[in-house]
Amino acid sequence: MPNQHTNQTHCKRGHEFIPENIYTDKRGSRYCKECQKAYRQSPEAKESREKFRVSSEGRTYRSIWTAKNRKRVRAQNNLGNAKLKMEVLSHYSVGGTLGCCWEGCIVTDVDMLTLDHINDDGFKHILPGKRQRLSGIALHTWARINAFPEGFQTLCANHNLKKRINKARADRKQ
Ligand SMILES: [Zn+2]
Ligand SMILES: [Zn+2]
Repeated sequence: MPNQHTNQTHCKRGHEFIPENIYTDKRGSRYCKECQKAYRQSPEAKESREKFRVSSEGRTYRSIWTAKNRKRVRAQNNLGNAKLKMEVLSHYSVGGTLGCCWEGCIVTDVDMLTLDHINDDGFKHILPGKRQRLSGIALHTWARINAFPEGFQTLCANHNLKKRINKARADRKQ
């Protein structure tokens, strides 16, 4: 923690600011060496060092850390995916406000909303070298990476179904 108050005699954890205990960085911020030492020995610091350590073969220990902390990693990923879904679906909603694009529909619950290919041309949105149609997180990621291309809309699950029913009906008439 940089210390802005240069006239302080003790750090916020009560270590004395004697010259031997002060480290000043390039920007002139003062740090308490005792606190830094304590941090280096803390479980968090140890964990973070382990996470980014690289073995002599150039392999990181991140994978080991990930395996050990599967639950935490999954929770973090879920949070990121939920944020991504919110961002992408909002973008493809009317006026950028999350909600189903079907005329008259009032569904705004993100759990009930999905991304719809307006012209059912989902197969155009495939990863190079892959033939599968993108959906879910992969599609959300793809849309954001590609700066939200046109051709999508946010629909609720029911209107997704309704659209398919309408299309099947139209196809049968032809
Ligand atoms: Zn201190
Ligand atoms: Zn709807």
